[in-house]
Formats: sequence, C-alpha cells, structure tokens
Amino acid sequence: MKKRLCIIGSGVAGLHLAYALKDDFDITIIERQSSDQIKNGRIMSTQVHFGSTRNREKRFNVPKWGEQALIESIHITIGNQKLFVGKLRDPALSVDQRLYYSHSIKDLVGQGVSFRLEKVDKESVEVLIDEFDLVIDCTGKNGPLFPFPIEEDLSPFQTPQRKCIVGYFIGIKENTPLGVSVTVLPELGEMFEIPAITEHGPVTIMFIMAIPNSDLDIFKGIKNAEEFTLKMRSTVQQFFPEIYNRMDGKHFALCDENSFLQTAITPVIRKPYLLVNNKLVVGCGDSVFLNDPITGQGCNLSSYCAEQLYETLTEYKNSKWDAETGECYWNRTKQYVKEVTEWTNAMTKPLPEHVVQLLLQGAQDQVKANEIAEWFANPTKAYNAFFSKTTIH
Ligand SMILES: Cc1cc2nc3c(=O)[nH]c(=O)nc-3n(C[C@H](O)[C@H](O)[C@H](O)COP(=O)(O)OP(=O)(O)OC[C@H]3O[C@@H](n4cnc5c(N)ncnc54)[C@H](O)[C@@H]3O)c2cc1C
Repeated sequence: MKKRLCIIGSGVAGLHLAYALKDDFDITIIERQSSDQIKNGRIMSTQVHFGSTRNREKRFNVPKWGEQALIESIHITIGNQKLFVGKLRDPALSVDQRLYYSHSIKDLVGQGVSFRLEKVDKESVEVLIDEFDLVIDCTGKNGPLFPFPIEEDLSPFQTPQRKCIVGYFIGIKENTPLGVSVTVLPELGEMFEIPAITEHGPVTIMFIMAIPNSDLDIFKGIKNAEEFTLKMRSTVQQFFPEIYNRMDGKHFALCDENSFLQTAITPVIRKPYLLVNNKLVVGCGDSVFLNDPITGQGCNLSSYCAEQLYETLTEYKNSKWDAETGECYWNRTKQYVKEVTEWTNAMTKPLPEHVVQLLLQGAQDQVKANEIAEWFANPTKAYNAFFSKTTIH
C-alpha cells in the first residue's frame, strides 16, 4: 500500500509537492479556500517564476501557461538614472497566483489527488498526524501550524523591513524588451514593475516596497480600489516619472476590484522538521522559509525546497520516516536557503559600495549587465557577488 501524505496548503510549495509526489504516494491536500474562492478572491502576492522553476514545472507536469508575456530581461534604475537592461538566460513568467493555484487544484483533483476544504488549526492537526504517514505544513506566511525551531542566525529582524504595496493594472505601456523593472530610490524603497498574466489577460504589476515611515510609505489607511488607484497614480507621477510617462491616463485602472494588496512581512527562517508524538512533521515554502519579497525569490525557493523534499521522501520511500529523514531534507536545502536569505536581507539595507560599483559597470558593459540580471534567476550568483568579493572581477 502507498504511504499516505497530507499537504496542508495549496500554494506553490503544496502544489509543486503534490505534482511531484502524486505517482508514488497517496496524496491529500487540505486547503482553507476552494479553488473558486481563490480565483475570485484578493491577489495574494506578486510572482516571477524564473528559468529553474519553470524547468521544474515541466519536469513535474505542472499545467502550462500561454507564453505571450515571457519576461526576457531585468531593467535596473537607481534614482532617476536608468543603468541598464540585463538579458535573462532563460525567460521567466509571472502568472497571477489566483489563476495558477485555482487551476492547478482542479487539475490535481482530476488526476486523483484528494482535496479537503478545511482550515486546519492547532487542535485538528493532531488528528491529521494520527491519520497520515506524514503531514507537510505548506501554510505559507500564515503558518506554520507547528513550532518549527527558528534559525536565529538567519532571522535577524523583529519587524518588517518594507511595506509591500501591490496593484495589478491595465493602462501602462509595457517596457521593452519586456522585463521586470527594478527602480531603487535610496532611503525610500523600491518599485518593481512586473508584466503578468491574469484571468483578464496581460497586466502590469506595480509593486512598491516602501521603507517604513519614509516619504514613500504613503498608502496608510487606503482601503478601497478607487483610493488605491488614485494614490498609485499620484505616487508614480511623483517618484517614478519614467513609468508615469508610459501610463495611459484614461485607461489606467486595476484589472479587477480585488487586484490590490497591502502587507508587510517579518522574515523568519526555521528548521523545517520536528517530531510530534514521535512522528516526523515537515514544513515547506514560506511556512518555514519566509523572506522579504524584495528579491522575488519566495516562489522559486518554495519550489526548490519542494523538489528537495520530494527527493528526500523518495530516497527514504521504503524506510520509516524519522528525524534522520527530516535532517536529510534540511541538509539538502540549508545552503541554498542561507544564500537566498542573506542576499535578500542585504537587499533591504543600503547597497554596499562594491555592489554599487558592479551596477555601474553593468551600465558600461552588456556582459556584466546580463550577469547581474542572472542574480535574480540564480541567487547563488547574487550571494557570491554580495559576500565573496574575490569572485568579482
Ligand atoms: C507582496 C508580496 C510580493 C511577493 N513577490 C514575489 C515575487 O515577485 N516573486 C516570488 O518568487 N515570490 C514573491 N512573493 C513570495 C511568494 O508569494 C511566496 O513565497 C509563495 O507564495 C510561497 O508559497 P507557499 O506555498 O509557501 O505559500 P502560499 O502561496 O502563501 O500558500 C499557502 C496556502 O496555504 C493555505 N493555508 C494557510 N493556512 C492554512 C490552514 N490553517 N489550513 C488550510 N490551508 C491553509 C492558504 O490558503 C494558501 O493557499 C511575494 C510575497 C508577497 C507577500
């Protein structure tokens, strides 16, 4: 008989795990929202799936999306000075999670994965531990449901380092070549402009990351779509003139009334396993590896860790899953989690001088510009550029 696994939460982590594991194990996903609730609900995030994540999606047979909005490049601006456009080696893609999650749940159910609509709490989780061979906590930033121990050296912050202000808009002429635009305003924060696919067609995501209490932190108290749109328009006009020049005054609007969001995250990294009543419980994705969104790594890291967990469970398929299995999973993920986390945390601080110099070199040299674009697709390169100066020429 196949071992029975329960995945709590159907975000990137839970879905990628379900796709990877479904042929070898009997999978039940437990999710607090139905696929229709997710589809018609509030946006949850922004997202850019870089080449390695998209390759993993192909390996795991995750549903494909139209390629009309492939992200080919990263545009870098500091202040009002556009530095360069770096080309990504492999194109990336951003699909609204409402669409991606709701569609994938239906697809998995069609392939025999069980789905339960339930909000799991700390009491009901005990029953699940008895019922299943393994419970995997993929509850994202709302979690974790278990007290996975905090890794103190990777969790230096007690408060959010940015206010996240996100809207999915129509009425902005896309940048060329199509890409993610990163604008850094020293001492204020950043703007990420991301081309994305939604149920309503292509949109432009405007994602402001404001340093708390700075002059860019000006969306406090804004609750409805109309106020949000007006505020975004005036903020872009004041702080991001190049984007404002591409805005079509008449047609600039949210793509639907639920396509805006304000949130703030206190990053925290946890050891992703523990024993409850002598049984192994693991975490995957934001529930255990929660970083600030500033480097756009959350979905990619969640997917990476899902693959590492899949490989661990497959390797230990015929043995008892215990602390050794959990430690094997942690050993496989630890270094990459550290690299993503330390780079991401560094990006919330003023850029170090040697990194500023690298960015300036990118403005003079297309090869360097392309290397810097790759930081986002391959964060190990960013980590090396930030922390081991010897690797930089
Ligand atoms: C503003 C913002 C911008 C971001 N931008 C990017 C970006 O550009 N690129 C990128 O890669 N990442 C980005 N991220 C991070 C990315 O969204 C997350 O890392 C990713 O979604 C994590 O996936 P996950 O599966 O761990 O969690 P989630 O996607 O949060 O999914 C968790 C699921 O668990 C369910 N759930 C939660 N609690 C329970 C419960 N008790 N019972 C049952 N179900 C439950 C939820 O309903 C949800 O479906 C951003 C995040 C934010 C907030």
